[in-house]
Amino acid sequence: EVRVRFAPSPTGALHIGGVRTALYNYLFARKTGGKFLLRIEDTDQTRFVPGAEEYIKESLDWLGISPDESPWSPGEYGPYRQSERKEMYMQYAQDLLDKGHAYYAFDTAEELEAMRERLSAARVVSPQYNSITRMQMKNSLTLPADEVKARLASGDPYVIRVKIPRKEEVRLHDKVRGWVMVHSSTLDDKVLMKSDGMPTYHLANIVDDHLMKITHVIRGEEWLPSAPLHVLLYRYFGWEDTMPEFAHLPLLLKPDGNGKLSKRDAEKHGFPLFPLPWTDPATGQVADSFREQGYLPDAFLNFLAFLGWNPGDHRELFTVEELVEAFSIERIGKSGTKFDIHKAKWYNEQYLRRKTDTELANYLLADLAKEQIVISEAKAEKIAALMKERATFPADLWKEGRFMLFAPEVYDEAIADKKWNTDAVQVLSAFQVSVEQLPGDLDADTAKSLLHEAAEACGVKLGKIMQAVRLAVTGVGAGPDLMQVFEILGKEELANRIASALK
Ligand code: GLU
Repeated sequence: EVRVRFAPSPTGALHIGGVRTALYNYLFARKTGGKFLLRIEDTDQTRFVPGAEEYIKESLDWLGISPDESPWSPGEYGPYRQSERKEMYMQYAQDLLDKGHAYYAFDTAEELEAMRERLSAARVVSPQYNSITRMQMKNSLTLPADEVKARLASGDPYVIRVKIPRKEEVRLHDKVRGWVMVHSSTLDDKVLMKSDGMPTYHLANIVDDHLMKITHVIRGEEWLPSAPLHVLLYRYFGWEDTMPEFAHLPLLLKPDGNGKLSKRDAEKHGFPLFPLPWTDPATGQVADSFREQGYLPDAFLNFLAFLGWNPGDHRELFTVEELVEAFSIERIGKSGTKFDIHKAKWYNEQYLRRKTDTELANYLLADLAKEQIVISEAKAEKIAALMKERATFPADLWKEGRFMLFAPEVYDEAIADKKWNTDAVQVLSAFQVSVEQLPGDLDADTAKSLLHEAAEACGVKLGKIMQAVRLAVTGVGAGPDLMQVFEILGKEELANRIASALK
């Protein structure tokens, strides 16, 4: 059975890259009939941010990609928070110590710093704690055995490090990038257990993936450099047979493709990076979000799916079910994906247009309620139907359709200068009278014939004055079908607006 996991660290708001990782894991699990797990990787207590965990949960819920197993719906392999699994890790570190693949290190922070400085002075590009430096440092490989014992017994602080072999080619197969080869001399003797008794990411991640029977590790490309170490750990534990398959997802790039997408790009171009609003606990600042900007969850999800994957044909609109059907790891791209907010907007427009008028009317009514404006459901539906082709976000139904609720207070002067003339005044006066005298309700068709009749009676070509008519009623020179607007306004309001414009 396929088991995949999304393993975020609760160090802040889940950003778009993280959400994409979660989505690909979700799609792969659904596609293969497997399970999608959420594991909270909170072993680094210094970076823990309150609220981040709930934020992750709410974001996945909003998108409809909630995990099958998680801290809130545990399966058989819990707990699903690493901080609650603390006791489990030491025995695995001990196992590596016993096998000679790990060792105790007693270096103080000052000693480590001095080592780094020494290496920098010798122009070593990335100073490491490796097979060479470890021979100069204070650890159980360099100190006499009884001193090591004595130090441990007296409670001296220590860490446990993995012992990376000096000369070895580490090979791993990645389902996105193919074979990856790394020489062990480029790897660090990474810390596995910290002095506070907590495991590091590397140890906890491997142990948990093994215990939770994870079959595929699908995660961001930034973790690719750690993968060789992970492969070695699987080997040292004797878990090679059940080692998960790896798939490292391509980077999200700046809109112009030059480098990694950053917070500054988002600020510069005014697009959000987070699914839901996030209040930074340190500054109290609220970051903008896709949800608050009016992105619909299904549209956002469709957009996200295409950030690094494509179905291999020209189709772009996919429901979640269709994505599940079409998804495969083989079709994930190697190269980075440009983040294009216009594409996100395009998706939103497509999804908005596919909503029923009733669904859209509900958005509109909710928005208006916030402004303490009350209109009938029937009217809201008509506005929604008329405006949906012009809206990117639900709020546009209202922002771009303001004139359907309020009479214009000002008129676009540029249009007035060009289009307002005696012909327009004549026709509008005649039209006003016939609208006022109409016995029944005013619908779009009736409005149209009344206007035609008025123009004809005045001997004026309607085409020449249409913009002036629109200006009189809406205050602006362009907008949706005017006869529909007349119907939505109703007889009385229409006549009043014409009267005011003629004053
Ligand atoms: N805790 C890591 C993160 O924050 C997980 C990386 C992985 O999936 O192995 O992204």
